[in-house]
Amino acid sequence: MKKCLLILLLVWGAVASKAQTVVPDPNRITLVIHGGAGTITRANMSPEKEQAYRTVLNQALQTGYAVLKKGGTSLDAVQATVQVMEDSPLFNAGKGAVFTHEGRNEMDAAIMDGRTLKAGAVAGITVVRNPITAARAVMDQSEHVMLAGRGAEQFAMEKGLTIVEPSYFYTEARHQQLEKALAAEKSAGTPDQLNTPTKTETTPVKKAKTKLKPGKPQSAVPYEDQIFTEGRKYGTVGAVAVDQYGNLAAATSTGGMTNKRYGRIGDAPLIGAGTYADNNACAVSCTGWGEFFIRVTVARDVAARMEYQQVPLTQAAQATIDKVGKLGGDGGLIAVDRQGNITMPFNSEGMYRGYIKANGEAQVLIYKE
Ligand code: ASP
Repeated sequence: MKKCLLILLLVWGAVASKAQTVVPDPNRITLVIHGGAGTITRANMSPEKEQAYRTVLNQALQTGYAVLKKGGTSLDAVQATVQVMEDSPLFNAGKGAVFTHEGRNEMDAAIMDGRTLKAGAVAGITVVRNPITAARAVMDQSEHVMLAGRGAEQFAMEKGLTIVEPSYFYTEARHQQLEKALAAEKSAGTPDQLNTPTKTETTPVKKAKTKLKPGKPQSAVPYEDQIFTEGRKYGTVGAVAVDQYGNLAAATSTGGMTNKRYGRIGDAPLIGAGTYADNNACAVSCTGWGEFFIRVTVARDVAARMEYQQVPLTQAAQATIDKVGKLGGDGGLIAVDRQGNITMPFNSEGMYRGYIKANGEAQVLIYKE
């Protein structure tokens, strides 16, 4: 009798657990990417440059899609997608990362699994060829969420990730951007907002003639406005996806902002600011003026609006971007929910972005419309 009862219980358990199993649905796979937001207009884009961007963005989409299509996880898809953009010198991530004040490339990246809320991030790393692989290793192979600088690099080496000379990340265009920023800083006699000098600095710093008005560039004004109009192209890369099993994931990778110093870290590697994924809501990856995105905890804000206010994805994301705009910040985000709904709002002039749906329908967009 006891034996019968046990068997009955076992059978019931097996049936019940099967009922909870998510039935894979290949029709819901969706991948969304961005390659940075900012002053990206038709006027400052040549046809060749546009084509180059479109080609890599399409490659990135196809790479992630191939992973999802063959039943891979959203985590693997976003990582593979981001790696393609990290390997391209066109974007401010991996090869092509912007330069710090000291002329180095210090990179940040994060990845998050919406199913388990596990996350991994690295900040200020200089020798890992694909920073997103380091973020993934932190998530999968350590008990931590975020590692920075030397320690993160040592961890990456121990985990056997591909290590390169810092010179691998050098690109002429990014170096020129730094030189321009340094020259502007020198002529204005003031560092930018990120680089406010400390009392210990010996060089006397003259006061800026004009006060910075975030988001409102003026002419003949000092360094801040020059860098944030001319240079306000945030080339961070990111990807969000939903896989066959309805699991969400997000990944973001960046070199940060040109001329950053003092170990400045932006929003990209901060879980909840530039990167977030939660199966209860959505997956989000951001690009823009990191300081504002940190203060608004943009990625988590979108998810929280969905979770607590029960508002749809598009509405939640737009409300959060509006909040960034009100503070004077600019940029954008990409997001996807479990049903494969997507949104890509931004308040800058353009954002490299694209998506691919289950049927293979892909689109790459750059400008406002
Ligand atoms: N959000 C990045 C940062 O502030 C910059 C970017 O989006 O390109 O570091």
